[in-house]
Amino acid sequence: MRIVVLAGGIGGARFLRGLKAAVADADDAGTTDITVIGNTGDDIHLFGLKVCPDLDTVMYTLGGGIHEEQGWGRADETFAVKTELAAYGVGPEWFGLGDRDFATHIVRTQMLGAGYPLSAVTEALCARWQPGVRLIPMTDDRVETHVVVDTPEDGRKAVHFQEYWVRLHASVPAQAILPVGAEQSKPAPGVLEAIAGADVILFPPSNPVVSIGTILAVPGIREAIAEAGVPVVGLSPIVGDAPVRGMADKVLAAVGVESTAAAVAEHYGSGLLDGWLVDTVDAGLSEAVEAAGIRCRAVPLMMTDVHAAARMAREALTLAEEVRGEARA
Ligand code: GDP
Ligand code: CA
Repeated sequence: MRIVVLAGGIGGARFLRGLKAAVADADDAGTTDITVIGNTGDDIHLFGLKVCPDLDTVMYTLGGGIHEEQGWGRADETFAVKTELAAYGVGPEWFGLGDRDFATHIVRTQMLGAGYPLSAVTEALCARWQPGVRLIPMTDDRVETHVVVDTPEDGRKAVHFQEYWVRLHASVPAQAILPVGAEQSKPAPGVLEAIAGADVILFPPSNPVVSIGTILAVPGIREAIAEAGVPVVGLSPIVGDAPVRGMADKVLAAVGVESTAAAVAEHYGSGLLDGWLVDTVDAGLSEAVEAAGIRCRAVPLMMTDVHAAARMAREALTLAEEVRGEARA
C-alpha cells in the first residue's frame, strides 16, 4: 500500500509518527510505504541561511531528534550562536535557532549554493535522520507565505508568515494570506508521481490554510489529488471550534472560513475530500459534513501521545477503505 500524506509542521509530524506506528503494528511495514509532501511556504532566509521549519519538524520528529514538549527544534538544544549574534546586534532576535538546528541550515544552504535542488538536499538530510518515510518538499522553487495585516507597522502592509506567527503571535487580524511565488512554482520531482501512484491520500490535522492550503496552491498538486481516483481522507485540526494549537482560526478568518471542523471540510470541498474525521466533541457536525458530500466519522482526535495518534491514523485508513468500498459498490 502506498500512502501519500500532505504535511505542515507539528500537526503533520505528530500524525505521521502515529501513522508509522499504526503501519508497523499492522505488520504492514514491509509492504506499505509513506510519501510525505511537505509545506515549504513557511521557509525563511535568516542570517544568510535557508530555514525550512516544516520539513525539519517532520524530519526531526520522525528521526527522533525533536524537542518533544515544544514540538519543533532539536532536543537538548543550546543557544550559543544566537547569543553571539545578539552580541553583534544582529537579529532577528524573535526567531529561535539553536546550535544543533543551525547545523542543519548550514548544510542545507551549502548544498543549495552548490546547485542541488531542495528536494535533493532534503533527501541528503534525511539520510542522517532516517525518518522512515520519503519526505519531498512540495516544490523546489521559492514560495513564501506572507500575511497582509490590519495594522501595518513601519509602513509594511504584509509580513512574512514567520514574523506574523513568531514575532506578532498572530495578535493582529490577518486580512489575506499570500503564498508568494506559488503561481509560478512547479511540484518538486516525485510529487505528482507519488500522488498518481497512491492508494490513499491523507490530510493530517495540519493547518488548512498555511500548511495544506499552500501545498495545494502549487499548480498541479490539487488537480493531481482530485484526479488520482483514490480515497482522500482528512483529519480536523479544529476541535470544539478552536485550533488545538497555533493560529489556524486567524488564517481561516482571513480566507473567510469559520473555525469549525465542518467549515474546514467544506473549504476543502467534496471535489477534493472523500472522508473527514472530526473529534467526538464535534460529532454534531457530522451531518453537515455528510450533507456537503463528504463521508464523516467522529473519533477522538487529540494526539496526546503516539498511541493516540496511531489510533487516529487507523481510523483514517478505515474510513478510506469505506470510501473505496462504496466506490466499488
Ligand atoms: P505547524 O506547521 O507546526 O503549524 O503544523 P501543522 O500545520 O502541521 O499543524 C498545525 C495544526 O495542527 C493546528 O491547526 C492545530 O490545531 C493542529 N493540531 C495540533 N495538535 C493537534 C492534535 O492533537 N489534534 C488535532 N486534531 N489537531 C492538532
Ligand atoms: Ca508550519
